[in-house]
Amino acid sequence: MTEERRELLQSLVPPTLNTIIAHADELTQLDQAIGDGDHGINMKRGAEKILQDLPAICEKPADEALKTMGMALVMSVGGASGPLFGTLLMEMGKSLGSRPLTRDVLVECFADGIDGVKKRGRSDVDQKTMLDVLVPALQLLQENQTGSNLISEMRETASASENRTIDMKALKGRASYLGERSIGHMDPGARTCGLAIREICNILEAAKNE
Ligand code: ADP
Ligand code: MG
Repeated sequence: MTEERRELLQSLVPPTLNTIIAHADELTQLDQAIGDGDHGINMKRGAEKILQDLPAICEKPADEALKTMGMALVMSVGGASGPLFGTLLMEMGKSLGSRPLTRDVLVECFADGIDGVKKRGRSDVDQKTMLDVLVPALQLLQENQTGSNLISEMRETASASENRTIDMKALKGRASYLGERSIGHMDPGARTCGLAIREICNILEAAKNE
């Protein structure tokens, strides 16, 4: 991996994972309300595993790095979220292959990763899951071709879409067992995606202003 790619990975991955780790208690509380109360613990375990493996991951080409991070989540995280977030990263890596890391390629990889989550989870938007944050983020990237105000729009989209899950009825995963009683609580997986996306926005914005 070139020095540039290694730097990109090292600047994006640790802060994003540390944000998730710092919010583990909150994520667990959200999962206590509509699930089994392990989401924060699950995500923390997966994040710590990737951080531990990061020096070796940084030596790999970008597609292999994504696949290895995804595999680490699948292997180390119990629950639905490990295989689903793992699939997101692994499918992004598969889609990337040896292509250059251009904006268009990255958006295509994100779309393929999300398709992988939908297939693996047999799920789609409006079912109160992580997809309710991931899909609007993808749509914004696909629509905002010029890039103007993209970072602030992305932050707002992520916040608005995680909040939108509060009023949804869960149709997938453990929360769906609660039926109507799942309404009124934010989906923990959606919150994780919102936290990660906003942190990535912060990093990109800081890099832009450097
Ligand atoms: P578990 O539900 O097995 O305890 P977690 O608590 O770690 O696993 O993760 C729950 C999160 O996983 C949910 O908040 C939701 O966002 C996501 N999720 C669960 N099932 C699906 C699915 N079929 N498709 C997409 N996301 C899902
Ligand atoms: Mg859970």
